[in-house]
Formats: sequence, C-alpha cells, structure tokens
Amino acid sequence: MENKNKKMETDGTTSEYFRCVQCGSPIKTLYIQYSAGNIRLMKCGKCKAVADEYIECEIMILVIDLILHKPKAYRHLFYNKFSKETVDFESLLWKSVSAFLILDIYRMWILTKIEKESNSPETVGSMLLEFPKMISSVIFGNLVFLCVMFHGTRKLFSISAGFYGWKEILLVVLVSSYFKIFLMATMVWEFPSSVIFIIDMFVISSNIVALKVITNSAIMRCLAVGLFAHSLKFIASYGFITYPKLIRLTEFNK
Ligand SMILES: [Zn+2]
Repeated sequence: MENKNKKMETDGTTSEYFRCVQCGSPIKTLYIQYSAGNIRLMKCGKCKAVADEYIECEIMILVIDLILHKPKAYRHLFYNKFSKETVDFESLLWKSVSAFLILDIYRMWILTKIEKESNSPETVGSMLLEFPKMISSVIFGNLVFLCVMFHGTRKLFSISAGFYGWKEILLVVLVSSYFKIFLMATMVWEFPSSVIFIIDMFVISSNIVALKVITNSAIMRCLAVGLFAHSLKFIASYGFITYPKLIRLTEFNK
C-alpha cells in the first residue's frame, strides 16, 4: 500500500499504471491514505464501481476468486499487484521461473514413477538415470510452450499496454499457472494420477483466463492459443522422451 502512495507523492504526475479490476480502465490511483490504517478506496471513472476492492480484502478472498477464475482477481494481480512500479519485477520473474520449472520437473517425475511402477518395479538407479532426461524434456517442452504463447499473444491479439514484452507475458503465464503449487500436496499424501490431470486442466484454464485479461479478446481466441500452446508442450516433452526409445526399438527390430 505504501509503495503506491509513495509513488503518487514522489511522482506528482501520478501516471495511470493501475487498472480498475471491474472493467480494466486505467486509473491514476487506487486509494487515498489519510493516516495509518485509514484509507479511502477510489471509484472507477468509467464503471463507477470501487476500482480495486482486493486492497482491503484478506488474501484468502483473492485466492478463492483466482480459483474461481474471476477476471477481476487476475486484473488485480497483473495490473495492480505485480506492475513493474510496485514490485521487484526481475526478482519476481526469476523466482516464478524457478518455482514453475521445479514443479514441472516434479510433475514429470511423478508421471514417470507411475509409468515405471505399472511396467516394471522401479529402482533408485533407474530413476536417477531418467532424471537428466526428465529435466531436458521439461525445459524443451516449456520453451516450445512459451514461444507459442509469446508469439501467439503478440501476433493474434491487441495486447494491453504494459504486457507486450516477453518478460511481461512470461510472468503472466507463470503466475497464472499457480495451480501447480497443489502438486506439493502429492509429496505428503498419496493421490491417484487423475489428480495431476485435474491440476493440469486448472492450469490450462487459468492461463486462458489470464490471456483474456491481458488481451481483452474473445474467449474462443484465447482458448485456441492456450490449447495449441499446451498441446505442443505435451508433444514436445513426451516426444523428447519417447523418440530415442522408438529409435532404439526400430534398430532392435532390424
Ligand atoms: Zn471500472
């Protein structure tokens, strides 16, 4: 909160880098602080609603609204919470990249483990041998995925100001994949493999809502880009693992 007021006081010009979470219109300031703990939320000039009600809400309300895929919660996150002016953008970006990759590698590890257990009993050695391959396939799959999301977003949509660079689009994709964090629950409790599928579905739908919020485009276009990017990621990741096996199998049959 202080950051935003500090920016207003020092800036003087109060550039319009915040957004109304209801309609997405730019707004100079989200609230006025009279004294510690005494603030007045500003209303949007366009839709006349409170511009960002999440400022006064508990974090759990935001989390629930994100899970419910409410666009206003995504607008709060991308425009008002994670704008370059209010957070250490670079640090947030690299922390998100690391968390995203670690969770994706963990997801691949669970799936490989399930596959191995159904075919032949796994050994620690065999799992360790698979590890470099898993990391490479996750990185390759995500490179393909991010390239499609980045180029698809820039070429097909008229994107909002502030979300045109690759870093901004990357952060939107990473943050909107927050549902991956529920994979950590599988470290503690045993779940059927269908839980991973449900988490994947939530990540895809969340990425699509995030695309809609930053592009203001029709949901069908966002759906097409999101599904295409995720499909290519799936093909690239699993192709990376299964292609050498197929080659070996073909040579063996010769
Ligand atoms: Zn509004």
